Amino acid sequence: MKEAEKLTKANGPNILNVLSKRPLIISGPCSAETEEQLISTAVRLAQTGRVNVIRAGIWKPRTHPGGFEGVGVSGLSWLLKAKKLTALPTTVEVATAKHVEYSLQFEVDMLWVGARTTVNPFSMQEVAQALHGVQTPVFVKNPVNPDLELWAGAVERIACCGAKVMGLVLRGFSTFASGEYRNQPMWHLAIEMKRRFPELIMICDPSHICGQRESLQKVIQHSIDLGFDGIMIESHIDPKNAWSDANQQITPALLEQMLNQIIWRKESTPEQAFNIALEKFREQITQLDDYIISLLGQRMSIAEKIGQFKRDNQITILQANRWNEIIARAKKHGEMVGLSTEFISRYMDAVHIESIHHQNQIMNE
Ligand code: PEP
Ligand code: MN
Repeated sequence: MKEAEKLTKANGPNILNVLSKRPLIISGPCSAETEEQLISTAVRLAQTGRVNVIRAGIWKPRTHPGGFEGVGVSGLSWLLKAKKLTALPTTVEVATAKHVEYSLQFEVDMLWVGARTTVNPFSMQEVAQALHGVQTPVFVKNPVNPDLELWAGAVERIACCGAKVMGLVLRGFSTFASGEYRNQPMWHLAIEMKRRFPELIMICDPSHICGQRESLQKVIQHSIDLGFDGIMIESHIDPKNAWSDANQQITPALLEQMLNQIIWRKESTPEQAFNIALEKFREQITQLDDYIISLLGQRMSIAEKIGQFKRDNQITILQANRWNEIIARAKKHGEMVGLSTEFISRYMDAVHIESIHHQNQIMNE
């Protein structure tokens, strides 16, 4: 490495330090379009003093051929220029071994794997191998479809190759249901990933969840309330004329305004009175959970007795009418105590499956 290069690297942003900041804010255009667009967006973002990493899409995965597929390698030199001007580290999406190679050549500080790559184990394997032994941190977005194992598998594949998976990005899941969001957030899947990989940074990409500007603020606030470490959000100096995702990008000025309105929360506090009160509530929850589980155990032993009865009288396990009655009653009761009918349905389904399982064992004795 030439002396001058060594110097730039030594003086450049330390990505690990930057990634330890909370909230971690990554922002920049969906796509790098022109040098002017990328540089002016990055400079304005840096002026907010709130953005930690500049993002830009260099290679864009398009649903239909003929769409804007990204500017390719030339965008990387603009991004390097933006990094030098702002002293902020940069990140791009990589989907092939070549993307990884070019990005490292142009000193991109952090890489992310997009939703359409996470979904494909062949692509993931290629990217993971290209990252073999590379120290550059990698973030893995959730796969397009709500398949937790694909997401976990992508993280494991990269880790197996000795690369540095540092974080996860929830960008929502595509479903048939048309609704408020372009991609359903399905927060519980991100929470389960955090449970499995507690050491990883978890950030939210409200832009791809929302698909429009109106609900961005609400989604960011919800992610922070849930304990996410930060966000990756698309911004553009002139969103209406963006070459991709024009409906969901916001100006750096609007981003600054939104960030000022968010109520930032931390996971814990040293304040004693708060911690004591919290501990008391938690004890109550633990006791209630224990009680509910014992009750469920009792419920199942009664189901077993019914099973014996049915067996001895040659009666089938399932009686549809009886089950419909139970569900209707549970929904009504649930509503009275503030439980959604959706939750009651899921809960009662689980109870029913377990109950049939117990009765089946009795039948086969
Ligand atoms: C992006 O971040 O520009 C992008 C293509 O996102 P995703 O992979 O979530 O669709
Ligand atoms: Mn986009």
